[in-house]
Amino acid sequence: MELDPPVKLPLSDSLLSDAVNQSKDCAVSHGFVFRTFENPTSSDTVMCGPHALLPAPIPRKYFHQLADGQMYINELLYLISKDYDFIRETLKSAAVSDDFTGRLLKILEKILEEGIADAGVLALLRSDYLLDGSTDEMLPKMVEINTIASSLGAVTTNLTLVHRYTTQLLGGRCDVEKSLPTNNHIEKYSKAFVKAWEVYDTPKAAIVFVVSTTERNVFDQRLLEFEVKKINLDIPVKRITLLDIGSKGKLSDDRRLIVDGTEVAIVYYRDGYIPSHFKSETEWNAVLLAARSRAICCPNVSLHLAGTKKVQQAIAKPGMVERFISNPDKVAAIRATFTGQYSLDIGAEGDKAIAMAIASPEKFVMKPNKEGGGNNIYGVDIRTKLLGIQNTSERNAYILMDRIFPVTVPGYKVVSSPELPELQNMVSEFGMFGALVSDKKNAVMNDFAGHLVRTKPNGVDEGGVGVGASVIDTPYLV
Ligand code: ADP
Ligand code: MG
Repeated sequence: MELDPPVKLPLSDSLLSDAVNQSKDCAVSHGFVFRTFENPTSSDTVMCGPHALLPAPIPRKYFHQLADGQMYINELLYLISKDYDFIRETLKSAAVSDDFTGRLLKILEKILEEGIADAGVLALLRSDYLLDGSTDEMLPKMVEINTIASSLGAVTTNLTLVHRYTTQLLGGRCDVEKSLPTNNHIEKYSKAFVKAWEVYDTPKAAIVFVVSTTERNVFDQRLLEFEVKKINLDIPVKRITLLDIGSKGKLSDDRRLIVDGTEVAIVYYRDGYIPSHFKSETEWNAVLLAARSRAICCPNVSLHLAGTKKVQQAIAKPGMVERFISNPDKVAAIRATFTGQYSLDIGAEGDKAIAMAIASPEKFVMKPNKEGGGNNIYGVDIRTKLLGIQNTSERNAYILMDRIFPVTVPGYKVVSSPELPELQNMVSEFGMFGALVSDKKNAVMNDFAGHLVRTKPNGVDEGGVGVGASVIDTPYLV
């Protein structure tokens, strides 16, 4: 299936060249920028973010359906994260051969033994969907739910203005205000930070952004910090590293997290979600210390684990959403976007899935319990991999998922290059952000919190902007 872009394509070379230059100028003017590859530690030089020339069409009703449904996903993930037995049971087998998951699970065990101290929950999530191009309905299908460092929402907000301009410039005949919806991500996430900080209830305690020192995507984080300050200038906001927490952090007698003399109310992880972020034991000590403390970690360790591929595969099984949510309408809304997922664990069920994948590898995606893009296995590589590991416990570290064959749309990428982009068939992944805040007992906020679209040429398997496969995009409601 194909959808039409907002403007008739292809463009002539002269029109395209002008549109690309205008788009870059407009993007930089509106702050859609990143630090450079050469100098990721300084903002002295910045570059235009990689983006699609035109916004990505999505049926209006699906966009609203996904946006409205995000509250249910927030609730589901929150409830899963509170079901420690379910998380432990589900991840037990993966932990055997997946050290990263194993270490997080150990931290969970440790804090359960000691008694959980955190003052509340701050869940900042993003669920990602592809439009299924295999039927006329083009139904949205869920790719995954991210529970840690769901990024790019803030910097992307500025791209909506760019796309409204370019669409009009190129003669797109739509009401750009209505068809290219405003992205309220910064406002919603900042509100969630402030609410969580209020739940912690100690005026001098800080919201801490845990970041890497070499961060090209720094403005995406800074926009949130600035907005928090705009809401309440008195909230201390700091940027520190895992290394800072691990080397200078300590717990007070009543388990307050103190780093360099500052009490920490919120630990917001924008680092620490892939093994390479942990260069030494000090980083792991940081996560353990924060998890043991009263500070509200975003995510806390069980919510982090709830975001693993393995847990999401377990949730996709019949009856599992119902285990957490009783309202049938909510359950139906959540399940409607699910696609088949299969355990590859040692045992009869896993053997069946392996046989199925070896027979028709093109129908599946094989995913390890990892984040950040570039990890999945596709096509014949699935067969090769499975034949290699089927008799080892390594297979427990993966899950299998039905491959979604998404709707395609012709489009151009605008990237840092003097060459004119070529017209390519693109596929877009639509991300819906969610924010849930709770105190020890009740949720005090549960909202849809803006969107993110990432677009890549059809046929490129991986989707990450970070790994260079995708460009950033915005939704065009049709
Ligand atoms: P990560 O945690 O690395 O982001 P994802 O599950 O999002 O893992 O997979 C990475 C990319 O692989 C996605 O952005 C998407 O482009 C592609 N992908 C993942 N699952 C599927 C699927 N079931 N069908 C088609 N493509 C998929
Ligand atoms: Mg992803």
